[in-house]
Amino acid sequence: MEPLRSYTAGRWRSPSDEGSALHDAVTGEETARLSTAGIDRAAALAHGREVGGPALRELTFHQRAALLKSLASYLREHRQELYELSARTGATRADSKFDVDGGIGVLFSYSSKGRRELPNATVHTDGGAEPLGKQGTFLGQHIATPLRGVAVQINAFNFPVWGPLEKLAPAFIAGVPTLIKPAEQTAHLTHRLVELIVESGILPEGSVQLLCGNAGDLLDHLTEQDLLSFTGSASTAQRLRAQDNVVRQSVRFNAEADSLNCSVLGPDATRDTAEFDLFVRQLVTEMTVKAGQKCTAVRRAFVPEGRVDEVVEAVVDRLAGIEVGDPRNPEVGMGALADLEQREEVRRGLKGLLEAGRLVHGDPWKPFDPVDADYEQGAFVPPMLLRCDDPELPQPHEIEVFGPVATVLPYRDAEHAVELANRGGGSLVGSVVSGDTEFVRTVVLGAASRHGRMLVLNGSDAEESTGHGSPLPQLVHGGPGRAGGGEEMAGIRGVLHHMQRTAVQGDPDTLTALTGQWVPGSTRTTTGTHPFRKYLEQLRVGDSVVGGPRGITAEDVRHFADFTGDEFYAHTDEEAAAANPFFGGLVAHGYLVVSLAAGLFVAPEPGPVLANYGLENLRFLTPTYPGDEITVTLTAKRITPRHNADYGEVRWDADVTNQHGESVAKYDVLTLVAKEGTTSG
Ligand code: NAP
Repeated sequence: MEPLRSYTAGRWRSPSDEGSALHDAVTGEETARLSTAGIDRAAALAHGREVGGPALRELTFHQRAALLKSLASYLREHRQELYELSARTGATRADSKFDVDGGIGVLFSYSSKGRRELPNATVHTDGGAEPLGKQGTFLGQHIATPLRGVAVQINAFNFPVWGPLEKLAPAFIAGVPTLIKPAEQTAHLTHRLVELIVESGILPEGSVQLLCGNAGDLLDHLTEQDLLSFTGSASTAQRLRAQDNVVRQSVRFNAEADSLNCSVLGPDATRDTAEFDLFVRQLVTEMTVKAGQKCTAVRRAFVPEGRVDEVVEAVVDRLAGIEVGDPRNPEVGMGALADLEQREEVRRGLKGLLEAGRLVHGDPWKPFDPVDADYEQGAFVPPMLLRCDDPELPQPHEIEVFGPVATVLPYRDAEHAVELANRGGGSLVGSVVSGDTEFVRTVVLGAASRHGRMLVLNGSDAEESTGHGSPLPQLVHGGPGRAGGGEEMAGIRGVLHHMQRTAVQGDPDTLTALTGQWVPGSTRTTTGTHPFRKYLEQLRVGDSVVGGPRGITAEDVRHFADFTGDEFYAHTDEEAAAANPFFGGLVAHGYLVVSLAAGLFVAPEPGPVLANYGLENLRFLTPTYPGDEITVTLTAKRITPRHNADYGEVRWDADVTNQHGESVAKYDVLTLVAKEGTTSG
């Protein structure tokens, strides 16, 4: 059998030796051979930096997001063959969906977030401009630009599709090329995934490469612009983090490592409650999905003391109904571990746990008859539940057995549950299954600093809950301490991880030119056509209109109060308003000021401006009194053409001032503006 090829420096490359064999987790047959002998890692990294990076940086965030969406659709069309290969790793169809569909889902989600939450530009502005001098000629602005290196990902074996895709998506949106190094056991599935990506021809050359096998000297060639994103065991994380070149070059390093995740059953959850049932069902799911080879799986189940017997009985009852065997058989609820070595690993780890607890279900040393499979050939174990009556013993809080294994432990009260949860030394996720808000509050706030994610599960949210074990692209995936101290995804936060934040100091015009976003103090163009009469392409950042002045009378204020029903005393009761510490007399409604300002800046006839879809950052800064005169200056601040739409978004800076030149209100007006040549305008 030919060893799997790597995709580096623009083509598929065969290793120079025959490599080592990979085996089907179910039948033990050889499925592939693996080696990276002779593959030039330095050249792969250079190709990413010199070909992939520049191609990506040519594109805006929105263009990259659109490519990611096309890729997601392409992979979805081809997912059947990924499922089939996935079954050879021991995964049931449900497990495969978790991996394959989950990974594709992350691409869709990042594509959508990239288009909605980032500008259609190549620079991200982080926060507003910071005034640094009294006259407004010197400002600071944080910007984020893509690192000019490669996002190297070293993956664990358990999610051969989701793992590479959840790391690729934020890197790609950021404009950073990726090099994927899969774990040995399931590399053939990642190999097919990358083949599909390359075959699709959707992504720019150099933006995705594959080193299919051993990392070799890869880390020695990293530079300070590269990133290293690792998923795997805590011991490997420790080794890679301390690698000489990684330390010397301060390579941005992210680790997702082991985690002794917990689930806490609240004291309110007696046997007849929905929460009791949810706790038991969730524990069984967490033990059996991917045969427990899931970094987020519940390893420690904390139960009020006195309720351990009931919980153990209910969990064992459910586990007894789980069929173990060939994952292709739809009756099978749990497939095989990744390989026979993993089975040995599970047995070794379990010996450690047995120093503290005892098995109440499942025995990995006792052969059994898996459905449609041979126990000797496939990496089968039963789900294993332990009971440990002394929660102070160290083993359950220290030993992660990466298989279908969990331990039930008692706790005394909420504080004790927090203490025990935190003994995991930093975890990816913890669940609290309870409808008792006080209890939940104590546990979540007490354990949050040691968890990346916390799920509160109860009768109110169960139907919609995405579950304990599912990391979501919108939310942080990662955890402190033992869990690696890293963070992945979390929406756009994960994109920014691949970018350098730089504080740029300078004059307003320069900052506007650098960011493509108008900053206060930079030039405004107030001559010529009203900006509301310009199509998206004609509009320039800095295009402005000044409206007013317009006087505000006591009658205006009274009328507005009558008309809207907003008769708050500051607008209607002279005596009470005079006693107000901020106003000292009757004042105009803030909304009246904003409404009058709109009347001063709009161009009323039909035109390219299609709609006002909101205001942001509205602040009333100075009271407006009857007799005052207001003037509004509206300036195009950011122009965002929408990909695949005949309009775009325009954000306007609105500054309403009084006759003394003081700002009375500041806000952003959000509009949709037609592109030229469309019928909309
Ligand atoms: P592992 O043995 O640490 O391997 C992880 C990856 O590191 C593999 O790709 C491996 O490559 C690579 N690797 C090992 N030594 C290396 C070195 N010296 N230089 C470069 N790369 C090296 O972990 P695993 O057994 O695959 O995965 C199971 C562990 O991962 C569990 O402990 C689990 O908790 C953890 N995990 C964590 C998460 C998370 O998101 N936090 C997710 C999944 C799994 P080879 O395969 O080629 O050796």
